[in-house]
Amino acid sequence: MNPSLTINIRLHKINPGTPVSEAAAREMLNAAHSLIQAAHGHSSDGIKQNWFGACGKSKTGEIDERAKKIDIYLQGLKTISLSCAGVEGSIAAYNQKDREKVEGGAPLGQLDKLPLIILNQGFHSDRYSWGEKVCSIVHEITHMTIGTSDEKYGGDDAYGAVICEKLAAEKPDDAYKNADNWAYYFGSYHEHTPDKSKDWRYMTAAEVAKRPPLNSTV
Ligand SMILES: [Zn+2]
Repeated sequence: MNPSLTINIRLHKINPGTPVSEAAAREMLNAAHSLIQAAHGHSSDGIKQNWFGACGKSKTGEIDERAKKIDIYLQGLKTISLSCAGVEGSIAAYNQKDREKVEGGAPLGQLDKLPLIILNQGFHSDRYSWGEKVCSIVHEITHMTIGTSDEKYGGDDAYGAVICEKLAAEKPDDAYKNADNWAYYFGSYHEHTPDKSKDWRYMTAAEVAKRPPLNSTV
């Protein structure tokens, strides 16, 4: 249903990073793109309100416009660089430029034509599901396209489904700015993508509760 991206992937490795195959990277980028398209094509009020609270109701049209903007950007993108770096405790990272920090992002024509996403050690960890890794790529893409930021909740970084759901319920304006809320918003459409049979665990707070604790040998 979704056309695959015709994108040239440049892979780099920064020691002590672990390399990623071009095929695996392409599969994830296509999955990220499919989520964005599904969010536009199957736009759901319930999903919007789950991840953006009251803003999910008041900004429903803007949410769809942002999905469309990201879709157009990705379809026009000729090259993306992926740097495999060795930072522990992080799945992915992106160095957001000042012009990208405006809420809603820079105009389409001014977006980065040669973006670089860093894939860290968490990307190789079995602790995270395939879907969480795809959503980390989506998270970085929202920084580069729609001006999301990394918000805080109770002094912690607002990362992960548990905190993002709380942020949406309690501080919807912050949730609406927060990159991970957008990542989980898009991730919630995985059943409408060609990748629906992949491992999409831990995409909600209820699912995260089932994750083995860090020191578990399971
Ligand atoms: Zn971020």
